[in-house]
Amino acid sequence: MSAELQKELSRRLGPRARFGEPMSRHTTWGVGGPAWCLARVHNPEEAAWLVRVCGQAGRSFKPLGRGSNLLVGDAGYPGVMIRLGGALGGMTTGPGGLQCGGGAFLPGVVRLAARLGLAGLEWAAGIPASLGGAVATNAGAHGEDMAQLTAQVTLLDPAGQVQEVPGQSLPAGYRFRRLPAGSLVLGVRLALSPAAPRQVERRRQALLALRRARQPLAARTAGSVFKNPPGDYAGRLIEAAGLKGLAVGDAVVSRTHANFIENRGRATAADVLALINTVTLKVMDSFSVRLEPEIEMVGIA
Ligand SMILES: Cc1cc2nc3c(=O)[nH]c(=O)nc-3n(C[C@H](O)[C@H](O)[C@H](O)COP(=O)(O)OP(=O)(O)OC[C@H]3O[C@@H](n4cnc5c(N)ncnc54)[C@H](O)[C@@H]3O)c2cc1C
Repeated sequence: MSAELQKELSRRLGPRARFGEPMSRHTTWGVGGPAWCLARVHNPEEAAWLVRVCGQAGRSFKPLGRGSNLLVGDAGYPGVMIRLGGALGGMTTGPGGLQCGGGAFLPGVVRLAARLGLAGLEWAAGIPASLGGAVATNAGAHGEDMAQLTAQVTLLDPAGQVQEVPGQSLPAGYRFRRLPAGSLVLGVRLALSPAAPRQVERRRQALLALRRARQPLAARTAGSVFKNPPGDYAGRLIEAAGLKGLAVGDAVVSRTHANFIENRGRATAADVLALINTVTLKVMDSFSVRLEPEIEMVGIA
C-alpha cells in the first residue's frame, strides 16, 4: 500500500513529493526527524486529490505551514506533511478585500496590506508563519488576533470537498481555533480597514521594531513556547525562576526573552523537550503555576 501511494504521489507531483524529508529543514527550530513524505500542492484540485489518496491508503496527513509553531520529534512523522505553494501561496485584491492563499507568507501579507492602505494586520509583522498556519493557530499579539480579521475561509475537508465558510463560524480563543477535524485552510479573505498607507506602514514598522528589541528574532526558535497563564506572563515567571540561559544540549532558554527556547546549533527535539519539561517543573516548584505549551508537538508520545 505504501509503495503504491509513493508511486502515485511521485507520478503526479514529481519532485514536489519528497520521501524521508528531514523536518529539521522545515521547522524554524531546525529540529525534527523525517516525514514519510513532504508534498507540495499548488492548487485546490491537487490538494483535494492528495487528501483523498491519503485517506484511501490509510496514510495520515497534516498541513504544514512554515513550521514556526511545531516541535517535531526526532523520529519524525509517519504520514504526509502537506505544504501549500503555487496558486495556494498567492495574494490578490478585489472588491471583497485582500484574498490570500493559505500558503502565503504572513510577513509578505502584512507588507502588502500596508502598501494597499489596509489596516489591522500590523501586529503580525515579524511572525514567520504562513497565513493558513496563523488562522489555524489563531496567531495574535498585542491583544489582536487572526480570528478578528478572518472574513471568509476556504476549507478543504478530509474527503476532498472544498467549501467557503464565514470566519465567525469557526470558534476561536486565545491561541486556539476550532477547524473541522482534518481540514486544510486553502485560502482566506481578510477583513481589513481602509487607512492611509503611510499610517499603516508606520504602525507596522513600530511594532516590528518593538518585536526586534524584545525577541531573539535572529535565533532559531518557535516563538513563545508556553501560553501566558491567566493574569500573568510565562516569560516573567520563567525569568523570575532564574531559568534564563538554562540549557540542555544546544537548546537554551533565551536570555533575550525567557519564553523563547533557542537552538544554538545542534539541538535535537529530545533536548528541546527535556528543557521544556524542566522549565515546566521549575516554574511549578517556584510559583505553583502549571505552564501549558503554546507550541504543538508532533510525533512525540
Ligand atoms: C520568531 C517567532 C515569533 C512568533 N511570534 C508569534 C506571535 O507574536 N504570536 C503568535 O500567535 N505566534 C507567534 N509565533 C508562533 C507561530 O509563528 C504561529 O503559531 C504561527 O501561526 C504558526 O504558523 P505556521 O505557518 O508556521 O504553522 P505551522 O507551525 O507549520 O503549523 C502550526 C499548526 O497549524 C496547522 N496548519 C498549518 N497550515 C495550515 C493550513 N493551511 N490549514 C490548516 N492547518 C494548518 C498545522 O497542521 C499545525 O497544527 C512566533 C514564532 C516565531 C518563530
